[in-house]
Amino acid sequence: MSVGLFVDEVFLQHQAPAEHPERPERLAAVREALDAAGIPARTTRTAVRPATDEEITRVHSAAYLGELARDLPGRRGYLDADTFFSPESFDAARKAAGAAAEAALQALSGQSPRSLVLVRPPGHHAEAGYAMGFCLINTVAVAAAAARAAGAARVAIVDWDVHHGNGTQHIFETDPDVLYVSIHQWPFYPGTGAAHEIGRGAGRGATLNLPLPARSGDLEYVAAFTQVVVPALRAFKPDLILISAGYDAHGQDPLGGMRVTTEGYRKLTAALRGLAAEVCGDRVVLVLEGGYDLHGLSSSVLASAEVLLAAEAPRAPDSPDSPGSPADAGLARPVLAEVRRALAGHLGF
Ligand SMILES: [Zn+2]
Repeated sequence: MSVGLFVDEVFLQHQAPAEHPERPERLAAVREALDAAGIPARTTRTAVRPATDEEITRVHSAAYLGELARDLPGRRGYLDADTFFSPESFDAARKAAGAAAEAALQALSGQSPRSLVLVRPPGHHAEAGYAMGFCLINTVAVAAAAARAAGAARVAIVDWDVHHGNGTQHIFETDPDVLYVSIHQWPFYPGTGAAHEIGRGAGRGATLNLPLPARSGDLEYVAAFTQVVVPALRAFKPDLILISAGYDAHGQDPLGGMRVTTEGYRKLTAALRGLAAEVCGDRVVLVLEGGYDLHGLSSSVLASAEVLLAAEAPRAPDSPDSPGSPADAGLARPVLAEVRRALAGHLGF
């Protein structure tokens, strides 16, 4: 079974007018690390296509798409204090979303059950009607909606970027068939993602937030995955797992305040790959979000890539009651208890 690799030069052409942490060098460093490890030769590289208007307007308003199409191409500027655009940015954002949608469709068709979607700009802060936090189009949301439109009954998005994915949560918060799980630093930008935010209306119980205190590291993240994320995904039974994969919880990251290591990211990826093998035919698509330390980012993406390329999936962590699961959740302990209380009656809690 082949693993898809979605990369394109256009993702290096999205550039801020001045110095900015979300820079093309991020992706260049990732590609260099993957090249040095021989990853591309072990994957199937697929030509990247722009997301169609239909794909984008499943999650964004037509008015917002119209504004982007009118105002961005060929120009430079800012859509908010952080969110820049350059002449190629609209093309890059559209192709990022198209790549993620295509990876999701290829996972469902069986062509490539797993894919690495290595794109810029990131997407998870982009709301239905406006850009935010370095994000123009919500890449992972476009992919989730594409999977649903292609017949997936349920899609899970796991967002381990250090920032809460406000856009993704809001886009799907009333939808019971798209589970949004976010583990993030709290309190922190953008201010959303409290444990009591569990979805609205028909979507109650299909949003799961793990707001961890600053300085949380591998111990807290692995405990959160073992005790909460994996059991919740097991109960939800998705047809596809999308990872909103930000690497800014890495201990070396200049924006985040967490202490996850490269080996920690390997473990998180292994938990989700193991779960995908168990519940959804090994279908898992990794979509790059943040991550601003070039070494922390590139070594961690490589670790994730190695897990997704391994011939055999690892075993997913056991349920919380099984022997062998870590009892010590460190700084995460009160948060995990709060999350279980908030979700009582949902997702097997
Ligand atoms: Zn981030």
